[in-house]
Amino acid sequence: MNLVLIGPPGAGKGTQADRVALAWGVPKISTGDILRRAAASTDLLAIAVAGAMAAGELVSDDVMTTLVDERLSQPDASSGFILDGFPRSVEQAQMLDMILEGRGQLLVVEIAVPEAELLRRLGRRRICGRCGANQDTAAPDASACTCGGSFVLRSDDKEATARRRLEVYTRTTAPVLDFYRQRGTLQTVDGDLTPDEVAACISLAIEPFDRDLAT
Ligand code: AMP
Repeated sequence: MNLVLIGPPGAGKGTQADRVALAWGVPKISTGDILRRAAASTDLLAIAVAGAMAAGELVSDDVMTTLVDERLSQPDASSGFILDGFPRSVEQAQMLDMILEGRGQLLVVEIAVPEAELLRRLGRRRICGRCGANQDTAAPDASACTCGGSFVLRSDDKEATARRRLEVYTRTTAPVLDFYRQRGTLQTVDGDLTPDEVAACISLAIEPFDRDLAT
């Protein structure tokens, strides 16, 4: 099963992608995680990637398509994957179609959350500097990660950059929803619920497709 989770920053795509990946035994492919690793390296790509991310802008479609094509060609993705953060433009969605030709059905689930709630969540989100795990400052054990790393504010979660990322989502990524809606593969779930409730909504949304594939 091939699944794309789409939603604005702070919608909970990463959290839900982890759950579905675990349930299905397929890899979660987060382009944000791939880019954060790339940005920490020392090559030329790192400079371009880090600059775009720090400004809350998108990394170029060409770079993204190459990275995703490479990742999806690895053996662990051959029987399915969860994409978290890709595609983020109609051009990327078109390139994904080409990459996936002959690889089975693609399901797309949008996680919808009101903007005020997104800004509240991004302001409270911390990321482990060592393993990349997310944490909410309101959680009871928010001081240190289980891996021993410290939680820090992601620089692109600072309010001005977070607002810019939401604008970029509305302008460039929201049209991807129409792209998939027109072909009948888009399901939308309410992301303004607890993580368990959202997970249940996603299961319900993909269950008919899951059943089709099983028969
Ligand atoms: P995320 O962790 O998914 O919120 O992504 C963090 C940042 O990585 C985004 O704000 C973009 O700068 C960049 N990024 C992630 N995925 C993509 C993509 N598919 N296309 C372009 N830029 C991306």
